[in-house]
Amino acid sequence: MSNAEIETRRQAAMSRGVGVMTQIYAERAENAEIWDSDGKRYIDFASGIAVLNTGHRHPRVIAAVKAQLDRFTHTCHQVVPYENYVALAERLNAMVPGEGPKKSIFVTTGAEAVENAVKIARAATGRQAVVAFTGGFHGRTFMGMALTGKVVPYKVGFGAMPGDVFHVPFPVELHGMSVQKSLDALGYLFKADVDPRRVAAIIVEPVQGEGGFYEAPREFMSALRRICDEHGILLIADEVQTGFARTGKMFAMEHHEVAPDLTTMAKSLAGGFPLAAVTGRAELMDGPAPGGLGGTYGGNPLGIAAAHAVLDVIEEEGLCDRANQLGSRLKQHLSALREDVPEIVDIRGPGFMNAVEFNLGGAPSADFANRVRAEALARGLLLLTCGVHGNVIRFLSPITIQDEVFTEALGLLEESIRAARKG
Ligand code: PMP
Repeated sequence: MSNAEIETRRQAAMSRGVGVMTQIYAERAENAEIWDSDGKRYIDFASGIAVLNTGHRHPRVIAAVKAQLDRFTHTCHQVVPYENYVALAERLNAMVPGEGPKKSIFVTTGAEAVENAVKIARAATGRQAVVAFTGGFHGRTFMGMALTGKVVPYKVGFGAMPGDVFHVPFPVELHGMSVQKSLDALGYLFKADVDPRRVAAIIVEPVQGEGGFYEAPREFMSALRRICDEHGILLIADEVQTGFARTGKMFAMEHHEVAPDLTTMAKSLAGGFPLAAVTGRAELMDGPAPGGLGGTYGGNPLGIAAAHAVLDVIEEEGLCDRANQLGSRLKQHLSALREDVPEIVDIRGPGFMNAVEFNLGGAPSADFANRVRAEALARGLLLLTCGVHGNVIRFLSPITIQDEVFTEALGLLEESIRAARKG
């Protein structure tokens, strides 16, 4: 069945609330390539939104999941637990930034990890309020949506948000928001709206994902840590998009001098299988009473098996180093192109969590970014936009992408940006 035929059926059968970016339907995929229903091949610089750091169908991941399929696929860990779940918790406890004993839980989606991190923070501190940042994205469930710092499209029409959630501007120098201004806003919040002694947690993405691939400056993260310690507030790092070698380190918080109390993870943790986690200081993780956390599918055996393979692959294939190499090639290529393309106002991002931002006539231009995306799609390169203004192209290719495919993608990207200027 062709892309066009399935698209007609989709529009009749599916809620428009699930926005769909392309009208190509996946037929099969391998590492950094996808083939659609019409037989056309694409280089995948989206990775299902940052899920495939180890690529589509990594042989190690597939073998681990197949082996698990042959043993059992579901018991519910709360009913009949299994050893590889415990082993994965041990691995994450040892890997996630932060000193001292740690504990973990497994859930299914990034939003669920965020929900649970807030539940844990509230239970552990006996406090209620949570502070998040403008431009931040934390999911589409009610608390995730409330924490997300962007109204359109995430909050429109969905009514009252959970209470006691506050937003402070995220520091983005490029848009006139310095670290000092952001910290001042946090200070005003504590004076005007909420007593810091009522705040359970501050949640922050070390590099904003959906918000535009803006990296939290080191002095900002250190200041947040200091403020949290001063007031007994927990620091939650949302590493759902930044995790698992994307930034050139296993976790983006490793770029900072300070550690969080709780870390949320999902996406690339299980290489395409739905698995998410919260890891944090053991005494905090034990805050909720037995039965307060969990879920039928949390830590599904297939996801757990996949995650063990993903962590092995990252280590054995040196994907942190590879992310740094690929990222610097991409940034170099874009920097050279910038000489001819005045619309490029910024090229950024640690490791291979890179983005390019476009302006037209001195203002952020979502239109230009969308033109680049459309030109790239027509040429067989799948790109994602992001950013509060929608004017950023983010690059989320598998870190396992083959050299020749990467070189080809750079060529297609350049052609697409040049073509967008004519459009
Ligand atoms: N937190 C961050 C930082 C994210 O990028 C996302 C997803 N884009 C989420 C939470 C929500 O994850 P999920 O879509 O798996 O619920």
